[in-house]
Amino acid sequence: MKKIRLFVIGCTGSVGRSILDVCRTFPEYFEVRALAARSSVEEIGRLSLEFNPNRVILTDPGGAERLRSFPGLQAEVLAGEDALEETAASPDIDHVAVASSGTGAIGALAAALKNGKDVSLANKESIVAAGEWIMPLISGPRQLRPLDSEHNAVWQCIGDRPLSQVAKITLTASGGPFRNFSAEELDKVTPAMAVNHPVWNMGAKISVDSATLMNKGIEILEAMTLFSVPADRIDAVICPESFVHGIVEFTDGSFLMSASEPDMRLPCASALFYPRRSPFPPARTAEIAGRTVTFSRPDEKLFPCLALAKEAARRGGPFPALLIGADEAAVEYFLRGEIRFTDIPSAVESVLEGWRGGSPKSLDEALAILEEGKNLAAEFCRRI
Ligand code: NDP
Ligand code: MG
Repeated sequence: MKKIRLFVIGCTGSVGRSILDVCRTFPEYFEVRALAARSSVEEIGRLSLEFNPNRVILTDPGGAERLRSFPGLQAEVLAGEDALEETAASPDIDHVAVASSGTGAIGALAAALKNGKDVSLANKESIVAAGEWIMPLISGPRQLRPLDSEHNAVWQCIGDRPLSQVAKITLTASGGPFRNFSAEELDKVTPAMAVNHPVWNMGAKISVDSATLMNKGIEILEAMTLFSVPADRIDAVICPESFVHGIVEFTDGSFLMSASEPDMRLPCASALFYPRRSPFPPARTAEIAGRTVTFSRPDEKLFPCLALAKEAARRGGPFPALLIGADEAAVEYFLRGEIRFTDIPSAVESVLEGWRGGSPKSLDEALAILEEGKNLAAEFCRRI
């Protein structure tokens, strides 16, 4: 059997490590041909010695320079985002996994799709801010495979059914570490508390987004784009057991739900192996009998980020990109201890409310609006 030749962008991050764990478990199915990250020299150096790719990329030129003298490294070392793009289009790659944070890999995502590669996508920022320009590049029905666990669940539920049969999509949220907090308690949340997610072990930024419920709001925007479904047919519920990840209601009134242990290696394996099922799950599913699964409404007053994202979804145009940018800056200020946890939604709201510009007309304009969102939120954070 021919091995799938992979390029993993964001290999040193939380999702990237899950992807590589699947590759480590199934070396007979996957060959890691290329690895990329931003600046983590030691980490990518070690992964390169383990997986032996032909090519290793650090987008940070200083990092790439240091990586060239990493002891024992045989692979070609390249620097910059152009190298991501060129590698994503390269004929010796079959499948590109986009698991980096930010929008630096957007060119590589576009190049992979244009060149007919299968793409597993974890990155939310690119698809929410610039989906209008990314989605038309898809040439096959299952070419783009979501890795975000809720979207992967929905993708599995929809299967090959036409979208005209989908009545409603519901994404689940664990509710984050502060699900039962009062407004007063939320005011006192520290960065250390917010990055410590009770269910998922993730990067710092997305952990804070999970705690504010902004992550769920961004995921609603992500689902709108990935599945071409309008905002009023997508919702979120709290499922504290984190066993059900996505629910699709079809036009005939039946629901399909996708359930699994909360382990990012499972959506990664489902996307990488598609259309096959992986031979055995990396984590065995526990006993079903005796399990309870409950769904409840999130409190949008206590967690206004969810309401703000829904509003951005309804308004469309520049608002999704602005929201992504504003949230990124506000979370950075919070992680540095410069604003309170409850200031994050205020910063985002001020940016959305103050915006007087029009809708983006190109991918570059969408990315410029995202940057503007960051700048405006940073200004707000410096003032408070
Ligand atoms: P992390 O912060 O853990 O890792 C980010 C990764 O991206 C690192 O490998 C980093 O490299 C790399 N990176 C950042 N910028 C660039 C760039 N310009 N070019 C190449 N590589 C880059 O993030 P997560 O793994 O948590 O999240 C990654 C993405 O997946 C985000 O968009 C997130 O929203 C999404 N996601 C995450 C989930 C999770 O469980 N963590 C679940 C669903 C979606 P370096 O180490 O060198 O900085
Ligand atoms: Mg998710």
